[in-house]
Amino acid sequence: MLWIPEAVWQGLLENFDRAPEGVERVAFLDGVPVPPGLGGVVTTLTVPAAALSPGNYRIGAAEMSAAGKHLRQHRLQRLAQVHTHGGTCTTHSPTDDAMAYSQHLGALSVVLPEHAQEDPDPWDGTVHVRGAAGWTELSRDEAISLIRIVPVQIDQSQYPKEAARWKQSRTGIPARLEALWSRMTKASH
Ligand SMILES: [Zn+2]
Repeated sequence: MLWIPEAVWQGLLENFDRAPEGVERVAFLDGVPVPPGLGGVVTTLTVPAAALSPGNYRIGAAEMSAAGKHLRQHRLQRLAQVHTHGGTCTTHSPTDDAMAYSQHLGALSVVLPEHAQEDPDPWDGTVHVRGAAGWTELSRDEAISLIRIVPVQIDQSQYPKEAARWKQSRTGIPARLEALWSRMTKASH
């Protein structure tokens, strides 16, 4: 399975939103593999300094190397590649097959439609898996069972939420800081 924290997927969509109009976008999902099988736990979104164009993207050797430095540093691995196509067709082109980030068994490549402008989930595109015989497409159901988008925080606490405290303060300073500040300013008279 591939576990993607909600915030990472959201970050990818927001990043792709900022790309120039009409060009392909590309990013990597890095994290900790969970053997045996496909995927792992994604910790990090990596967006390489790619040359983006309407028909493809290119990542130079130096840029690819720069986009991988943190992997060794934090003992992470590249778990999947995500890139976009302009239309609704999300099959791998021969170039996609050949130029994928990895040709290792179990490598994952997600292709999203319409340059991800409709905020797709991973399974709204096509998930490709590198098998012994080459890249193969998963069905939507297979992709849904492979990929989980998980929350990064579950907060069922009964005490006031941080956000509520901020809202209660007229100046935007949390109430406690506000009280401290007013005491400090009075003391100077
Ligand atoms: Zn492609």
